[in-house]
Amino acid sequence: MKNFGTSLSITIQETGLSMDKLKFCPKCGHETLIWDGEKKWSCSNCDYVLFHNVAAAVALVIRCADEILFTRRNQEPQKGKLDLAGGFVDPKEGAEQTCSRELLEELKLKVSISRLRYLASLPNVYLYKNIWYNTLDLFYEYVVDEKFEVNMELSEISEVVWIKKSEINVDEIAFDSQKHFFENLY
Ligand SMILES: [Zn+2]
Repeated sequence: MKNFGTSLSITIQETGLSMDKLKFCPKCGHETLIWDGEKKWSCSNCDYVLFHNVAAAVALVIRCADEILFTRRNQEPQKGKLDLAGGFVDPKEGAEQTCSRELLEELKLKVSISRLRYLASLPNVYLYKNIWYNTLDLFYEYVVDEKFEVNMELSEISEVVWIKKSEINVDEIAFDSQKHFFENLY
């Protein structure tokens, strides 16, 4: 693994696409909410404050020898592009638990948490129904001895592909954090 202590060069799109349309304060009812352009609404009429904080997510690098498992997204954002298995951390959940839960949900794979290896964290932005979410993607590696079949009666995935590490085309990858990870860190 290469050094990833330096600052990121990935392009983070402007956030706050529709955030300034949220105008009415849920506390005092006046049309006085102000979006700070990054992560916070505050009311200019009362003391109400609402944060839109960074969401944690996990990305699983499932590797068998020199091949890595990618999923193909069948829903927006980035439908049709390659993605790593993973997802958002639920409230009151540890990241390793998220890895275990997501792999069971997405791939029906039962993982041994002690074999998960934390690799790196990278910021990402995720557009869902016209709202930008800033995420912090936590990358974990999970090595398997044999490639496995996946039952495809799943909602978020249309296909699973194993790709040799040396043959990964980052233009095919859905998200900037994962592009950066494979270009620079893995
Ligand atoms: Zn108010």
